Amino acid sequence: MRAEIITVGTELVSGQTLDRHSYYLSQECYTLGVPVYFHTSVGDNDKQLMDVIRLAHSRSDLVFLCGGLGPTEDDLTKEVLAEFLAEELILDPKALDHLKQIFIHRLEEIPSNNYKQAYVFKNGTLFHNLHGTAPGLTVTKDQVTYILLPGPPRELKPMFEASVRPFLMRLLSQKSVIRLKDYGFFGIGESSLAEKLNDLIQNQSNPTIATYAKDVGVILRLTAYATDEEEAERLFAPLEEEVFRRVGSYCYSKQNESLEEVVFGLLSQQNKTVAFAESCTGGLATHLLTTVPGSSKVVKGGLVCYTNEIKTLMANVPEDTLNKYGSVSFETAKYLADNTRQQFTTDYALSITGIAGPSATEGKPIGLIWIGLAERGKVTRVYQLQLKGSRKRIQLLAANYALFILQQ
Ligand code: ATP
Ligand code: MG
Repeated sequence: MRAEIITVGTELVSGQTLDRHSYYLSQECYTLGVPVYFHTSVGDNDKQLMDVIRLAHSRSDLVFLCGGLGPTEDDLTKEVLAEFLAEELILDPKALDHLKQIFIHRLEEIPSNNYKQAYVFKNGTLFHNLHGTAPGLTVTKDQVTYILLPGPPRELKPMFEASVRPFLMRLLSQKSVIRLKDYGFFGIGESSLAEKLNDLIQNQSNPTIATYAKDVGVILRLTAYATDEEEAERLFAPLEEEVFRRVGSYCYSKQNESLEEVVFGLLSQQNKTVAFAESCTGGLATHLLTTVPGSSKVVKGGLVCYTNEIKTLMANVPEDTLNKYGSVSFETAKYLADNTRQQFTTDYALSITGIAGPSATEGKPIGLIWIGLAERGKVTRVYQLQLKGSRKRIQLLAANYALFILQQ
């Protein structure tokens, strides 16, 4: 199967917006084992769009068309494709209902322009849009499958995840089963991870192996082609074993879970509770863990002890310790974790104290972080990190490191 990607929008060819959809969709196609041969961007112009579609139809089996599904005059992707394929567009009751729901929430009538978004290919199907008005669409003609996706990235990506990838997997599985397995890694950069697995990545065939950097952490994805699920598992096993032998200590999840979900899962399984004492992260680690539904079962609370005064007043860090070692120190991190665990009567307490920048303090470098982990009945452990990046980035990484340490 040969794929190509067409992005539609005058803002893309005029240099106002960088095309990110081709980049994203190509990565996704690659992990599904579908090669992408062409990327084309075209302005909001019916004749030029028609030319580009005609060419794609002559050379590809799968064609993505991104953008131009909006309500305005210059949104014409669907209409031009319908004309080229001589396929009828009909009003879809489900799509119309979706539009009505959105405008009811906005306490508005549906503007007449928007009605055109409820029109779909009579011989096609649609992908629900969780974050906008225009549904995604698919139609197949002359053995060429078209996938039309809305332009806004916050609509396109969730739609791809929820509907388009499963659709493509079904399409491909008419030949064989495709299985994906995502592993979450933290504490190792994408390039170091790829380097440690370089020979495996270079020699890949089935399963394929690929890494993706996320905002925080890296995803390692294995993709296997097999005649059934059992065969897929058999193909994954030796590669998974080798990956774990080399870099297993950085892996926090063998499924596609976030670090906070993993921590929540582990604590709730063991009926354990945790409290936080956060200085340089200002409550971010507590916040991250509380984004998981049901987290009140494991998070008892936290203390944002930003100043030395509050570290002493609320977490009983001795003034002597602060004067002698500073607030960013092994000793302070240890006191914060110990005392917070006792005060909150939890099984664990995490403390985070460090220098997020932009200027150094206490004569210590930006990015220096101490994390304390107190555990009931055990010796408190304290970890030192030296992080890089902006203030925000250092805070985000420090909070995630604390969660990573807790799940280890
Ligand atoms: P709507 O008009 O309802 O917003 P649409 O499906 O018509 O949706 P476009 O108008 O083409 O989509 O794009 C909406 C916005 O999405 C654009 O302003 C642009 O910022 C962004 N966008 C569109 N295509 C791309 C792309 N290929 N890469 C990155 N951003 C894009
Ligand atoms: Mg538009």
